[in-house]
Amino acid sequence: MMQEIINAYFDSPEKEAELIAAISRLVRIPSVKGRTMPGIPFGNGPLRCLEEALTLASEMGFSTQNYDHYVGLVDFNDKETKLHILGHLDVVGEGNGWTVTEPFTPLLKDGMLYGRGTDDDKGPTVAALFAMKAVKDLGVPLKHNVRLIFGTDEESGSDDIAYYYQREPYAPCTFTPDADFPVINIEKGSYKPTITGTWEQSETLPRVTALSGGYRINVVPPEAEASVEGISAERVSKVLSLVGKETGVTFVVAATDTGIQIHACGVGGHAAEPEKANNALTAMLTLLSRLPLADCGSTRAVASLTKLFPHGDYHGAALGVAQSDEQSGALTLSLNLLELNETGFECYFDARTPLCANDSNCRQVAEAAFAAHDFSFSGEMGAPHCTPTDSDFVQTLLRCYKQYTSDTQAVPLATGGGTYVHDIPGGVAFGCSMPGFVSNLHGPDERVRIADLITSCKIFTQTIIELCG
Ligand SMILES: [Zn+2]
Repeated sequence: MMQEIINAYFDSPEKEAELIAAISRLVRIPSVKGRTMPGIPFGNGPLRCLEEALTLASEMGFSTQNYDHYVGLVDFNDKETKLHILGHLDVVGEGNGWTVTEPFTPLLKDGMLYGRGTDDDKGPTVAALFAMKAVKDLGVPLKHNVRLIFGTDEESGSDDIAYYYQREPYAPCTFTPDADFPVINIEKGSYKPTITGTWEQSETLPRVTALSGGYRINVVPPEAEASVEGISAERVSKVLSLVGKETGVTFVVAATDTGIQIHACGVGGHAAEPEKANNALTAMLTLLSRLPLADCGSTRAVASLTKLFPHGDYHGAALGVAQSDEQSGALTLSLNLLELNETGFECYFDARTPLCANDSNCRQVAEAAFAAHDFSFSGEMGAPHCTPTDSDFVQTLLRCYKQYTSDTQAVPLATGGGTYVHDIPGGVAFGCSMPGFVSNLHGPDERVRIADLITSCKIFTQTIIELCG
């Protein structure tokens, strides 16, 4: 019964046009993080977008609050709050390669709305607002309040909600429509220690004099660079083509006055899914470890690092920390940053740890391996996030999702990535990308399918009624 009413409310060209117009108002404001100024924590763009979103909500008749320019609040009623819906209005930079439209000029094409933020996360945030409006328009009484929170700093560290939750209580239930359907209730923990090694400068030849790869801890390095002195390009060519074939990474060698410079080109990717990338840095280590180098500090470090982080070991098997559990899956690990010079190195890996991982079966095992190679280390594990699959909250969300989609076999998901609710007790990610949809978020031609967003509106309407009614 309620389902038919909700369907009828949203299934009209007028409602679709309203939704597109509302999202477009926000997409037109380039809300990329800017310079912090007094009273403007994340720059002018996010602030302007926050003000516009609050205007939109008050036009709909909701009471709103600009919370010190960190977040915006939209309240359904003045009763006790049962549910927080957490969306964000800031966006990543426009980047290059847009073909369908300009990044901040929303354009509807083939049922898709294109523009920066259409999917991440302005479209989903507006869908949640429309769901609140639907509950109001349909006259469904709510015993509890639902509060929609407009965040403005999700892409740059989430200082927005940190500020808010330092001053305000958590809600019993929180979901963020800033990821995928059906529902993500488990987020892996992390382990990203700093590893260093030092040695006496050596003059022996041939030796590696410099090695570097990676530019961000959570990105699998697409490229790496090394200098080897006292060796010729001819002498390495055979090993080079062999390791190239073995790893799928391309090596280019250039002769220098004193030796060679090697460039490795692999495939970059997200640290949470290292198997989808091809790590240029670990391939470079493999190559260097097979060269006929003289015994010295850098040679030993290269050999050790290759042993601890062999190319293609996505699960930390060599380090001794590989493990998995049924709920959250396997530990993933990727060596993503390394700087080595004549007297030492510093490197970082990014491990996403399942619920079963802890200090004794992960951190201490890894530290023993580093110590065995005379490396220094520091760094703690980051806690995972888990809202139980059998909780009423997760089961209610799953039921509402199934009710409005044909995805009747849906089960809650675990992710290696962190979402907006990673530090919020009892929080989950819920929508808005439908399984398999490619939204190009953070890339050129970001888009959202309007039909999916209308479905999201319906799901959220049903969810609000079930949780707060
Ligand atoms: Zn987002």
